[in-house]
Amino acid sequence: MNFYEAKEKHEELVKLIEKYAHEYYVLDNPTVSDAVYDQKMEELQKLEEEFPELITPTSPTQRIIGRVLDGFTKVQHARQMLSLADVFNEEELIDWVDKVDEALHAKDTEFVAEMKIDGLAMSLVYQDGVLQYAATRGDGMVGEDVTPNVLTIPDIPTRIPLKGRVEVRGEIYMPKQSLEELNAKRELNGEPLFANARNAAAGSIRNLDTNIARSRKLDGWRYYFANAQEFDFKTHFEAIEKLKEMGFKVNPEYRKVKGKEEILAYVKEYTEKRSKLPYDIDGIVLKVNNFDLYEELGYTAKTPKWAIAYKFPPEEVETKLLDIIYTVGRTGKITPNAVLEPVRVAGSLVQRATLHNEDFIKDKGLMVGDTVILRKAGDIIPEVVTPVYSKRNGYEKPYKMIEKCPECGSNLVKVEAMHFCMNRNCPSRNIENLIHFASKDAMDIEGMGEKVVQEFFDLRIIENITDIYDIWEHRDEIIAMDGWSHKSIDNLLAAIEKSKKNSLERLLVGLGIKEVGTKMAKVLARRFGNLDALMAVSEEELLNINDVGEVVAKSICSYFKDERNIEIINKLKALNLNMEYLGQNKIEEGSFFFNKKVVLTGTLSKYGRKEATEILENLGAHVSGSVSKVTDIVIAGEEAGSKLDKAQKLGIKVMDEEEFLSHLNEN
Ligand code: NAD
Repeated sequence: MNFYEAKEKHEELVKLIEKYAHEYYVLDNPTVSDAVYDQKMEELQKLEEEFPELITPTSPTQRIIGRVLDGFTKVQHARQMLSLADVFNEEELIDWVDKVDEALHAKDTEFVAEMKIDGLAMSLVYQDGVLQYAATRGDGMVGEDVTPNVLTIPDIPTRIPLKGRVEVRGEIYMPKQSLEELNAKRELNGEPLFANARNAAAGSIRNLDTNIARSRKLDGWRYYFANAQEFDFKTHFEAIEKLKEMGFKVNPEYRKVKGKEEILAYVKEYTEKRSKLPYDIDGIVLKVNNFDLYEELGYTAKTPKWAIAYKFPPEEVETKLLDIIYTVGRTGKITPNAVLEPVRVAGSLVQRATLHNEDFIKDKGLMVGDTVILRKAGDIIPEVVTPVYSKRNGYEKPYKMIEKCPECGSNLVKVEAMHFCMNRNCPSRNIENLIHFASKDAMDIEGMGEKVVQEFFDLRIIENITDIYDIWEHRDEIIAMDGWSHKSIDNLLAAIEKSKKNSLERLLVGLGIKEVGTKMAKVLARRFGNLDALMAVSEEELLNINDVGEVVAKSICSYFKDERNIEIINKLKALNLNMEYLGQNKIEEGSFFFNKKVVLTGTLSKYGRKEATEILENLGAHVSGSVSKVTDIVIAGEEAGSKLDKAQKLGIKVMDEEEFLSHLNEN
């Protein structure tokens, strides 16, 4: 990799990590597992090791990402609240221990090993024995004053028997039991479930409504007397003993450890005990015990060098495969699902896991009745890894794929690895279609989630998507039903009415044309402007569009050839649904860039990369990240690197910024 490629990769990683960190720390709603995040961070770190010129003070490797939410008072931390450096296996942990010994010219430095609680860091500040405030970590320098919320947790002392300024740090967490109860309640109410205890705890504490924190049954452990040296404590161990004495809840699992054997024994012990603890831990923390050594070892901008977090690998547990049941998707696709003996893994209770298709089950050799290994990396999707062959007792049932649809009894058809129910009137397919039509990515009808669709379908209020727009005829009947009121049905009817005005791409997604997801729908809506124009198009014409391949073109044409689909579309038209693209940028076919495959490289002075990509896409260009034989144009800004070289080698047209802008002015 040359410098320019590394710079581009660096930018890409920083953007991605910042997005994940924002979702995690600010919104308390991660979209990827911690393992994925950690892996991206590691990639960034390695890149910066190879190209140290890329390190800036704002890189995620150098700073704590976090922000104070509006509505909370800001608190300036007297001493920065740092993060911890991570290691991901025993070898790295021992390497780190060796480095500490080396830096201190010592052998077998003494550490305190502790649980790494998976929660939210909290600083409690006392003045002359009285609690002043409780604050989150924020960006490390400035946190949020969340005192009223923290005081909903039992055992947070508001008075302590020590004069002067005292800062005690710890972790607020949601016990496993509280998370289970909370998620069960949320499931009943049709609310989204919390992915893990950490985010549930953070979301509760960083909420302006104190009743929410109170109802969430949070708890906390203290693990650090931040200014203990000012009170002449010599070691971390002594300091936490003092915290206990003053009435703070200190996690009882801490222990002094020395030498590789003791350290690894502690890691092993808690790797095994972890699932039995009533709270989630995501690793083990080792802290040098002697405070005098802290300054000697020092700090990076983000972490102390006297402590390390050993992170557990993705959690694996054993459970029983009780049964395999099948679900029928919108397209008729049959998915086998494992019914598992309920088991807690990586912070949540799992009782179902997808088994994808027949081949997946056969490749793993799964049998109903097997003991299986289940893996979950703090992630949302649990995975069945393998049967435990040694635990077979001969009563396991060999697997055989079903031949008929579990819902309507039609014969299944196998297409590559998948089985499909081809019956368009299969009730399961119809329900899935309706759910999909009303979903966020499609027509976005608020209040019409899975449960409501199922309820209306069972009562035959809706059988296909056009019926949704006639629900008003059933208003009185619905009001009389359990759980409905004048207000709720009127809100739903208003949401249904509003959806009639959606831009064409939403309707295209909602119709459920195979291969047409949100991105393709947008391409088609922009390109054709209205549904009639798209319906009249031939397969060849579709193939002329860069983003459309053969499979997609075939699927679109066959959808619009089917009379039953035409009937539905005509009904939707009669119901006054909008069939036009309402976006701002209908594609101008006359544009210079129309249908060209374009690659951007280097830095443009007028537009950022994202902006330039959007402009080009609006003009009908297909913007890609790498140069190949099929590229039509490479737009090269300042400091263009290997992509420019490659374009020149392949004889591809290269355009500088001036030429690019002049073509834009033509439009
Ligand atoms: P961290 O969670 O790895 O370690 C630092 C934190 O550990 C401290 O701030 C403290 O809150 C906590 N802690 C728990 N027990 C402790 C103990 N006994 N002593 C000291 N501290 C203790 O670091 P971080 O910077 O808070 O978060 C980084 C991690 O968060 C990542 O490694 C990743 O796992 C996760 N993350 C995930 C996403 C995502 O999108 N999934 C995004 C950002 C971060």
